[in-house]
Amino acid sequence: MKKREVHIVGNWKMNQSLHEISQFFIEMTKMKMELKCKAWIAPQAIHIPILKEMAFTTGSIYIGAQNCSQFDSGAYTGEISPASLADLGVEFVIIGHSERRAIFGETDEVLNQKLLACLKHNLKVIFCVGETLEERQNNQTFKVVEKQLLEGLKNLPQDKAHLLMIAYEPVWAIGTGKVATAEEAEEVHAFIRSQLAYHKDSTIILYGGSVKPDNIGSLLQKDNIDGALVGGASLKPQDFKQLCTSASVLM
Ligand code: PEP
Repeated sequence: MKKREVHIVGNWKMNQSLHEISQFFIEMTKMKMELKCKAWIAPQAIHIPILKEMAFTTGSIYIGAQNCSQFDSGAYTGEISPASLADLGVEFVIIGHSERRAIFGETDEVLNQKLLACLKHNLKVIFCVGETLEERQNNQTFKVVEKQLLEGLKNLPQDKAHLLMIAYEPVWAIGTGKVATAEEAEEVHAFIRSQLAYHKDSTIILYGGSVKPDNIGSLLQKDNIDGALVGGASLKPQDFKQLCTSASVLM
């Protein structure tokens, strides 16, 4: 039995056509899962309302966003307002994914502003941290993660800290097929937990990076690994279901 609820979060990135989305939910409905874990999906922002409707009929899948602006409204062409996400009834937002950091140049300072903007609207946040391969090889993993947490979680209001979840995603493991060993991940998860200012025991810390149905079991055995943030393997309903089933066994 896990101490904290196990979460399986699908990050669909910029994937899934409308046809693929409806097939996903048709298959999920057919499989009639008895979910004991929390199953969450973050589709492309444009698909959020459609997924919310489909997830409502399937039941018990929460829908979130992969990113949002640090601003509520104004002249920010192409951005996604956290106020509008809250209006839509979105349950969570992923902030600081390594693709946002590396490809779109999002700094710790901007990510901190985004986090605070989401919390203001009572949106749950999955805040991502993780080192590159070079940083790991230079023994800088803990230093890098510590800085990302210190700067990213700056001024976290105590009364909103229960809305925060962390995802440890080593950049070298994302989309590469190279998963961190359960021991490597647990070591960083325990470190992250020790760094939290509030709710040290109850904060959910997810692992992300090439999680698949055949490797999730050993990761979830670890005390400080409370679930997974999953890219590739969350796109196929069979795999997503299997990930949720493995997680449900522990609840
Ligand atoms: C991710 O994008 O957060 C991720 C972990 O991707 P993948 O599972 O494909 O490595």
